[in-house]
Amino acid sequence: MESGDGLIVRVRPRWGRLTAASLRHIARLAAQTGNGTIELTRRANVQIRGVSRQTWPRLRDELIELGLAPAVQDGERRPALLVCPLSGLDERCPALEPVAAELEALLGSAAAVRALSHKFSIVLSGGSQLSGDVAADVHLRLRPLLDGRADIVVAGTAHGGVELGSCRVCDVARVLLRSIEALARMGEGRRMRDVAFGPERRELIAAAGELLAPPSGLAPGWSRPLAGLQVGAQSWVGFAVPFGSASSEAWSVVADVAAEHAPGELRLTPARQVLLPGVVASRVGCALECLQRAGFETEERPGGLELVACSGAPACGSAHGETRRVAREIGALLPLWSGLSVHVSGCEKSCARDGAADVTIVYGKRGAHLGFGTDVAGASAAVALPVSALRANVVSHFADHTAPREQPYGAGPSA
Ligand code: SF4
Repeated sequence: MESGDGLIVRVRPRWGRLTAASLRHIARLAAQTGNGTIELTRRANVQIRGVSRQTWPRLRDELIELGLAPAVQDGERRPALLVCPLSGLDERCPALEPVAAELEALLGSAAAVRALSHKFSIVLSGGSQLSGDVAADVHLRLRPLLDGRADIVVAGTAHGGVELGSCRVCDVARVLLRSIEALARMGEGRRMRDVAFGPERRELIAAAGELLAPPSGLAPGWSRPLAGLQVGAQSWVGFAVPFGSASSEAWSVVADVAAEHAPGELRLTPARQVLLPGVVASRVGCALECLQRAGFETEERPGGLELVACSGAPACGSAHGETRRVAREIGALLPLWSGLSVHVSGCEKSCARDGAADVTIVYGKRGAHLGFGTDVAGASAAVALPVSALRANVVSHFADHTAPREQPYGAGPSA
């Protein structure tokens, strides 16, 4: 993809996981063929930024050689499969790998897959909020422990989409196949959101037939801290990547830590964190110190404050303004609030986040639009403000309210 700082090359690691050796290669290639910046996306993919037309062929060839990209041109047209990184780590999340392997085989062979949109996406989880918050065509949500059933939700996040029903875990792949075939019959390139909210939903449910039981109400998603040393069914060290972006040198440190202090597996999360399972107990302190020194966040932010911003200007050619500095400044105004989220988007495309945030700022041609408790589309409906007015508006909003507002904030001086 073209961007303000050159080409962006996206790598889709299988199931959102990398080895230390692969990461080391990606870091080297980012420095040699791009501008050295590597990003994590909200689909647990990796992006190499600032690649030039001259260096792109070499990067492509090496990624193929390393098994990080398919050799055939439309090899990435198959649906993206995000496997919850907490599989087998948190006690509530069953091991998802056997089902993931079944789904992968199906997606690689079913003829109906060729009729799907290349943006079709599937999330496989054990009910974590971390994965449930990702907008996808299909959520396959295994119930915890020994229940043996999975809930199927389509067209959105786990709790914002349409619940089709539940099936036995051993039937998940067959239900998915039947749903995909039904969608393909409705027309090429269609997404679940095109059909799930209308009468065609009945066709999807009918296609699954006897395998699908009616919806019984989705259990709430569970969540847990991820950063630092975490103890679960298997312990791990987790850290956040500020705004999902770091230099190739910093990623090389991560590769070294994963190889020297842990078995070398890295799991990427859709919230732009990295989990290193199985860090040797006596080396946890050393691992955390190395990661902190490289600029990663190894502790949960105070109050759970969440800062999200896309690349913004000047890196992205579509951006109408700088995003990350503004997100930090606005975040600094909210230290006493627990669990608030700030999202700054350089344009209406909203690359960095699906859905609402407590504070959403989106740049337009006439200035910045500010919304509270809404998403980028909602915030865009508000009057444009000069960037210099954002701070005062945020302070006054939270001085007047004990909880984030439900509706977009629509007042303020025009630009
Ligand atoms: S949201 Fe807009 S400005 Fe930000 S990275 Fe995406 S296209 Fe660029």
